[in-house]
Amino acid sequence: MTINIKQYFDYKALKYKGLLRAMFIPLMVMSLMFAVPQSQAEPKNPIINDSHFHLTNYVQKGPTPREFLKTMGDKVGKSALMGLPLQQKWDFFVSGNRVPDYYLESDARLYYYSFVDAALAKQYLALTPEEQNRFDPMITGFNPTDMYATDHIERVLRTFPGVFTGIGEFSIHKEFVSSKIAGHTASVNNRAFHEILKQASEIGLLVVLHCDINTIRNDDKLNPAHYLDVVNVLRKHPKANIIWAHTGLGRYVKPTTNHTELLLNILNDPALSHVYFDLAWDEIAKYIQATPETTRKWAAVINAHPERFLAGTDSVAPRTQEKYFKNYTVHQPLIDLLSNKASRMVRLENYDTLFGDARRKVRDWETRHVAR
Ligand SMILES: [Zn+2]
Repeated sequence: MTINIKQYFDYKALKYKGLLRAMFIPLMVMSLMFAVPQSQAEPKNPIINDSHFHLTNYVQKGPTPREFLKTMGDKVGKSALMGLPLQQKWDFFVSGNRVPDYYLESDARLYYYSFVDAALAKQYLALTPEEQNRFDPMITGFNPTDMYATDHIERVLRTFPGVFTGIGEFSIHKEFVSSKIAGHTASVNNRAFHEILKQASEIGLLVVLHCDINTIRNDDKLNPAHYLDVVNVLRKHPKANIIWAHTGLGRYVKPTTNHTELLLNILNDPALSHVYFDLAWDEIAKYIQATPETTRKWAAVINAHPERFLAGTDSVAPRTQEKYFKNYTVHQPLIDLLSNKASRMVRLENYDTLFGDARRKVRDWETRHVAR
């Protein structure tokens, strides 16, 4: 059989049309799969909910929330999403071409970086509702020595309704950091700090507070420098749920020998029932696990008050799951000494209770105060 040129091309076109028709549905499905990122659902049996996590570092860099969801994987159900309120200045006269990205890598000042809240909100709003449900974004970009800090917090809520659950982690006393911040040094006795806690009570914002319990060196072995001041302030704001990060300890701020007794004083005081503690930061594991006896002491306190402690990593802008999750696994010897009930509450349930409650209250405040 012979066919002319026109017939040949008609035949070819028909063949390709048929082929294209047959391929249409699989091609559409494939293109949808690649165009729309897969929503990352909450794992069924997570190990922890992370009450203390920083998406960005001291130079405002870090993974996107969607990248971080991959890092959380099936180990972490929900997570607080904190920026860092401070930016380390890259002062060329101090560092030259050596890039400082941590506050201990330069003598130059730190300054409050308010844009962090807008950047975080924008990233959160780009997630699917299912993904958003796994995060509790926190407002951090305010200066706690400024009477206008509350204006900033309210402005963030009004500009980005439906996003934020609380404020913090923000720092009052923090080893090396407080003295590096340009401007007035933060203090628990500053009225601006009281105004922030008052506002948190009124709106229902959950507060994550970093305040060292002591100075780095203190000859008084039983009375940490800031303990009483902090407790007195917390007592004045009973309606604000406050998580005292790391129980007031730090890389160099060691526990006094009576640290667990001081925690018990707070835990047993009905006027301080709104105060919680997180077990975040690998740096504090060295104190908890100093000896088998200290680990047992901490476990006894937590087993007696399991509703007052929360697991967290205090990981900063991690790029791998291994790096991220080791800030929690380092606490395994302590977790192993907790009762099943206490372990579940600390790792998972207290997060849901506290963050869930704050989420509802803040959404309610927004409904009443923010015109949409
Ligand atoms: Zn932190």
